[in-house]
Amino acid sequence: MSEINFQSKLPMVGTNIFTIMSSLAQEHGAINLSQGFPNYDISEKLKSLAQQNIQSGFNQYAPMAGVPALREALANKMTNSYGHSISPEKEITITAGATQAIYTAISAFIKPEDEVILIEPAYDCYSPAVRINGGRVLGYQLTFPDYSIDWKAFGKLINSKTRMIIINTPHNPTGTILRESDLNELAKLVENKDIIILSDEVYEHLIYDEEKHASVLAHPLLKKRSLVTFSFGKTFHGTGWKLGYAVAPEYLMNEFRKVHQFNVFCVNHPLQKAIATFLADPEEYNSLAGFYQKKRDFLQTALASSKLKPLLCSGTYFQLYDYSELSDEDDFTFAQRITKEFGVASIPISPFYTHGSDAKVIRLCFAKTEDVLAQAGEKLSKIV
Ligand code: PMP
Ligand code: GLN
Repeated sequence: MSEINFQSKLPMVGTNIFTIMSSLAQEHGAINLSQGFPNYDISEKLKSLAQQNIQSGFNQYAPMAGVPALREALANKMTNSYGHSISPEKEITITAGATQAIYTAISAFIKPEDEVILIEPAYDCYSPAVRINGGRVLGYQLTFPDYSIDWKAFGKLINSKTRMIIINTPHNPTGTILRESDLNELAKLVENKDIIILSDEVYEHLIYDEEKHASVLAHPLLKKRSLVTFSFGKTFHGTGWKLGYAVAPEYLMNEFRKVHQFNVFCVNHPLQKAIATFLADPEEYNSLAGFYQKKRDFLQTALASSKLKPLLCSGTYFQLYDYSELSDEDDFTFAQRITKEFGVASIPISPFYTHGSDAKVIRLCFAKTEDVLAQAGEKLSKIV
């Protein structure tokens, strides 16, 4: 039987860089500092809560928007952090990770010909979701070495077709953060325009050197036009649970849920119950900044004598390293070679740009135990 003809909706999309580098790490028995996930387990308490909820029979569909106790716990947490009350019934939806929340948000609002501004390097799931919905991606280019935003230049990308701006703070892959002054500039640019902000804040608790997370939820103007996405995978070291949530004012959340109910309807019931109980102890997430800052510093010390030079990392569990003293190779070639020859896998950052980048920079994930970071440091210090 001959194959049918069709036109790919995503002709330029291949296997993503996380899968490519993790597979290469496995193939060569390399230490995997590429794809972002911890090499330690979730807390024993969270595991036993998951088991209890399965044993207690919470094994059928959850409510469409999420388990009420979980949404209430989140509303309390956010009210304490961001200073305005968020309705658990109307403004929070529990999702299958932040990825689904992002896809659902984009699908709910982006129509053919709408323009969406991304900040590149951009996390890999934004652009395909825009394009599959017929939208057009416009990338604002962050550049080596400080990757900061010039809001005047950014404003030039906005026009009557702009429907959405996607921001991400703390930012994957650069580790930069937006501050309140950035949010004020953004607010000025979108004032009186029908532009939605999709703010990806999955690393909200992974922020260092006494910096404070600037959430759009704490911004009086932006919160009225923003959908914000979060991930329990980052906050509780459980990327495999694929649970997260979206927060938005009611008029935006109503549209979000119209799509959510038909692409998943609802998400994992017993694990939502487990997290609802686990959230009662704020120490579980308030301790994360100190926990990860120590790892960031440990990796920097382990690489201090190497020719890999760290860039400023204010948040996330990723650290960029400049390898220009070591090689002229492009970042993908260099990342592949050091995986094969030196036994450490990293992520090149050019795939996070629509049109690539010639910066000599790789990303290392430091969500690993110190023994693994020390071994990686030793191996990478051998590159000359
Ligand atoms: N946004 C960013 C910036 C991320 O780094 C990730 C995952 N690492 C996600 C979204 C997706 O989160 P999840 O695994 O909860 O789908
Ligand atoms: N977010 C993780 C990272 O940036 C990877 C997630 C994935 O593999 N899709 O490394």
